[in-house]
Amino acid sequence: RAKAKGRNRSEVFDEALHDEALRTLDLENDLRRALAEGHFEPYYQPIVSLDDGRCVGYEALLRWNHEILGVLAPDSFLPVAEESGLIEQIDWLIYESVFGSMPRLLEGQQYVSINVSARHFHTPDLARRLLALAARYDADPRRLRIELTEGALLDDTHNVSAVLHELRGAGVRTQLDDFGTGYSALSYLQRFPIAAIKIDRSFVADLQAEGAQEGHAVVRAILALAQSLGLETIGEGIETTVQCSTLAQLGCQRGQGFLFARPQPLEALRPVAGG
Ligand code: C2E
Ligand code: MG
Ligand code: MG
Ligand code: MG
Repeated sequence: RAKAKGRNRSEVFDEALHDEALRTLDLENDLRRALAEGHFEPYYQPIVSLDDGRCVGYEALLRWNHEILGVLAPDSFLPVAEESGLIEQIDWLIYESVFGSMPRLLEGQQYVSINVSARHFHTPDLARRLLALAARYDADPRRLRIELTEGALLDDTHNVSAVLHELRGAGVRTQLDDFGTGYSALSYLQRFPIAAIKIDRSFVADLQAEGAQEGHAVVRAILALAQSLGLETIGEGIETTVQCSTLAQLGCQRGQGFLFARPQPLEALRPVAGG
């Protein structure tokens, strides 16, 4: 038998594939069950003004309350959720929960942003369904933003522009997530109604090193571009006061990160006035 001689490459490879397939299948089944049993929940992370530290909004971030493993962040299951298409159902549950919580969540001019996977963004009627759901919960679309990555905007067969305009017409703004890590086809910044760009955490991390001139140069260029196009800027993943003050000095308006607050469940957020 091959095993006795030491397995050859293709057998090892097949076995690895097999294991991988089983794991994926397990995870897919677990996701399905978690959906049915309501184990998904949004956590909320404040987005603050870098001028004065005021909270201007929250990003809703998906969490899985796993029976055995505890609270799971999306990285461990998002790829399978996306490949299997389950992300659409999960997203709708999250959006519903967010809309239902908006009165408790928001005060003043604050907003809440939700993440939309590229795959989900390209489903038919997304804008209409999102607005209908918001209306059902009496959630003001002007207090809602969606976060898309650059990849979601590339596929023009899906009428990206029409969808974004429909949402914008109802008051929903768009923030470009993880900016700078994608395709850098900058033309879409002008072509589509985009309100804000979120500077990816990797660039913010590069601001840490003393005299990190190259890191500064990239962030400075992104900020200059945003400013010339009239886009709001949000620095992601701010963990240190050096990153925070450097971003502010370079002209970044808003920020988000563990330095200010970690994502938390709704009940852990400090109570809002009148809420
Ligand atoms: P994202 O939209 O870029 O979200 C920001 C991620 O950075 C979040 O990870 C957040 O917890 C993390 N983060 C925030 N501040 C810091 C910091 O100071 N340091 C570090 N190291 N990380 C920080 P999270 O919650 O694990 O989410 C990962 C990604 O999953 C998100 O990236 C987003 O692309 C996706 N995602 C999250 N929620 C949803 C959802 O409801 N639907 C869909 N389709 N995707 C979601
Ligand atoms: Mg996001
Ligand atoms: Mg991001
Ligand atoms: Mg991300």
